Amino acid sequence: MNGKIYDNIVIGAGMAGLLNAVFSASSGKSVKLITAGAGSLTIGSGLIDLLGYSTVGGILKDPFDGFSTLEAGHPYLKCGRAAIDKAVRAFLDICDKRGFPYLPANGCRFVPTAMGRLKPSFLVPPSMDMESLRGAETVYVAGVDGMKDFSPEIICGAFSSMEYFKCKRFEPLSVSLPELGAAGFGSMEAARFMDSEEGCSAFIDRLKGKINTGCGMIIPPILGSKPGLWVYERVKSELNAEICESAVIPPAVTGYRLRSMLMGFLGDLGVELAENARVISAEVKNGRCISVSTAGPGGVKSHRADNFTVASGGFYGGGLTSAAGRVWESVFGLPVKTPDGWASADFSERQNYSGFGVSVNDRLNACDILGKPVYENVYFAGRIIAGADSPYEHSGNGVALATSYLAASLL
Ligand SMILES: Cc1cc2nc3c(=O)[nH]c(=O)nc-3n(C[C@H](O)[C@H](O)[C@H](O)COP(=O)(O)OP(=O)(O)OC[C@H]3O[C@@H](n4cnc5c(N)ncnc54)[C@H](O)[C@@H]3O)c2cc1C
Repeated sequence: MNGKIYDNIVIGAGMAGLLNAVFSASSGKSVKLITAGAGSLTIGSGLIDLLGYSTVGGILKDPFDGFSTLEAGHPYLKCGRAAIDKAVRAFLDICDKRGFPYLPANGCRFVPTAMGRLKPSFLVPPSMDMESLRGAETVYVAGVDGMKDFSPEIICGAFSSMEYFKCKRFEPLSVSLPELGAAGFGSMEAARFMDSEEGCSAFIDRLKGKINTGCGMIIPPILGSKPGLWVYERVKSELNAEICESAVIPPAVTGYRLRSMLMGFLGDLGVELAENARVISAEVKNGRCISVSTAGPGGVKSHRADNFTVASGGFYGGGLTSAAGRVWESVFGLPVKTPDGWASADFSERQNYSGFGVSVNDRLNACDILGKPVYENVYFAGRIIAGADSPYEHSGNGVALATSYLAASLL
């Protein structure tokens, strides 16, 4: 056993775990982050959706307008508006300080998707903000020859018929980057090429002459794989165009950028990392957790702390385990309530299984049916908490942000 007793051991390196580690280490706590895998942020969009759709249907102009329709037990109602506002400010502050700014909170911000839809989000990097194209009469949708899962024609077709874009003209365009090799590459390969001087110049040179000055452009997320805006700023200024990266199916590059920024910050804050380590058991005594044990390449190890934050995700992340008719939380074996009818046959409807998770009290401790904390020094953050149907509501990273901030502030 490593003799050190940490102020906070965080389990999981998705959005919730990374942010909880950053928030708690920034306030001077000693933190260790233990994770089995990389978390969904690595392949996700990196957009922070707070509440895109009302639980009674329809896109919300301001996510907070939908809070009155949230069902009792929703993680946002546990956090409260004041903590959510503080979490948003803290996140934006980190992004600014680390040179990867996100736009200030200003109600719903739309992001174009590769499916030709507009996705409502909340905290968005400038390179993905649809609003930047407002003044452009012509918007080129520019793909890269041979890139998979991005069709300028499909996007142009869908957007041309939308009321939202009624005064705009959409034109498909394709850029040739033979340096990327045979067809079938994704946006990550193109983004890595754009990290280089050669790649960035090639992209700019091959677009010049094909577009009008002052136009708008929607492109796949290829403006560099690293956190920062320099590729975006350079392409925008040399082409004299407004640029908007779209959300694409995973792996999406834009989430990877945010993850890289947060990982870099964790290193600078002195957070200890145990990667490829799965927490397999916990030692508990008198209603408190004393230590957790991990299995990893170095064998079984024990880790001690005064507090533990479980940010282990849902079914995909590994935080929830299921067997026929039964679901439980994977580290402490906590029971998970499963209402009848786990899934709806209609994919577009709310899905009960999306809301499965650990029931928590206002301090984000798992609680029994009387609301009494099971372990008072164990906090839960992110998708592992019950009560949000994040794919339906568009609230995934918003719940991760709000709960990871609150959990860190309670230490
Ligand atoms: C493809 C995709 C796109 C998305 N796009 C958006 C979007 O545009 N906007 C938005 O708001 N949300 C989006 N989301 C949802 C959002 O990413 C998640 O809701 C949110 O990231 C949940 O984060 P989390 O940290 O709680 O869980 P996860 O990201 O699932 O992370 C869980 C972590 O815990 C680790 N772990 C699990 N069990 C153990 C264990 N026993 N020991 C050690 N480690 C363990 C896992 O390895 C992982 O690192 C997207 C999700 C996906 C998959």
